[in-house]
Amino acid sequence: MVDLRSDTLTRPTEAMRRAMASADVGDDVYGEDPTVLALEERVADLFGHAAALFTPTGSMANVLAVRSVVAPGQEVLCESSAHIVRAELGAHAVTQGVTTRTWTHPRGHVDLEAVRSLHAPDMGPFFVPTAAVSVENTHNFAGGTVTPVADLQALRSWADEVGCKVHLDGARIWNAHVATGTELAAYGGIADVLAVCLSKGLGAPVGSLLVGSTEAIAEARVWRKRMGGGMRQVGILAAAGLHALDHHVERLAKDHDHARLLAEACGVDPAQVETNIVVVPRDDAASFVAAAAQEGVRVSAVGPRTVRLVTHLDVGPEAVRRAAAVLARL
Ligand SMILES: *Cc1c(COP(=O)(O)O)cnc(C)c1O
Repeated sequence: MVDLRSDTLTRPTEAMRRAMASADVGDDVYGEDPTVLALEERVADLFGHAAALFTPTGSMANVLAVRSVVAPGQEVLCESSAHIVRAELGAHAVTQGVTTRTWTHPRGHVDLEAVRSLHAPDMGPFFVPTAAVSVENTHNFAGGTVTPVADLQALRSWADEVGCKVHLDGARIWNAHVATGTELAAYGGIADVLAVCLSKGLGAPVGSLLVGSTEAIAEARVWRKRMGGGMRQVGILAAAGLHALDHHVERLAKDHDHARLLAEACGVDPAQVETNIVVVPRDDAASFVAAAAQEGVRVSAVGPRTVRLVTHLDVGPEAVRRAAAVLARL
């Protein structure tokens, strides 16, 4: 089986498992796990922020991040297919009293004109005040697309002018960094608070981080515990993240090459593929998925007319060639 359903399917490599097995650990709720502290410090530094917090999932990192800039009864603006509004089961509303309004962009980019017209920080006692704008980079449901850093910087300048906060959902920010050469700190610089995942293309079994100011992270630490996310000797997992940062970032370029190869096999213009996700329009998405599975290639239908392929660490060049042959035939 060649499994292209998601880059979350990666299993830890032997070397990663060794790093996990030999990790120095302590009780992280006491702030005494040296491996977690090292990971938090390293990731905060990478993005040019003061502090970071290890969380079990990207969804929890996003909820903690958004709540740090949006109070109950306030709203966050985001793109209409953003993960925070489509794929977190309403957590921001259910647990934090945060509401959302959206703009739509075919490639998931920020649309500053739309943001300006949606922005309503203080329209009296009948309207929800806007507190923040959330951007996703790379954008998952738009197909691993990269928002140009210049657009993010323009958003940042506008946000500073009007006193609005910016949240970056950087679950796959590593892919954007490798695809464009933009420094991680440049992405960090446009956000008040960001969330990044170790468990997607980086290949760690678990883990995300929330990155921001010392105050935001101190408060998020309390909220993480309140929501049941206080973890103990979790350096075993943080070690997987440190290993991934050492060994699995630059190699994402291979996943991007593989994605372009698969796009070509599926009749999609490879120039449309910016990172490790390929979106294939198919009127028969469900039966295409079933036919591919019959021939040993697992892909997913993310809509009735949309098939998605995601390349990752566990799918090497030989498996990609095999998948490409099957998909081209179908
Ligand atoms: C995967 C993902 C997340 C977090 O997902 P978890 O499964 O909760 O770790 C957040 N944002 C985006 C864009 C994602 O793709």
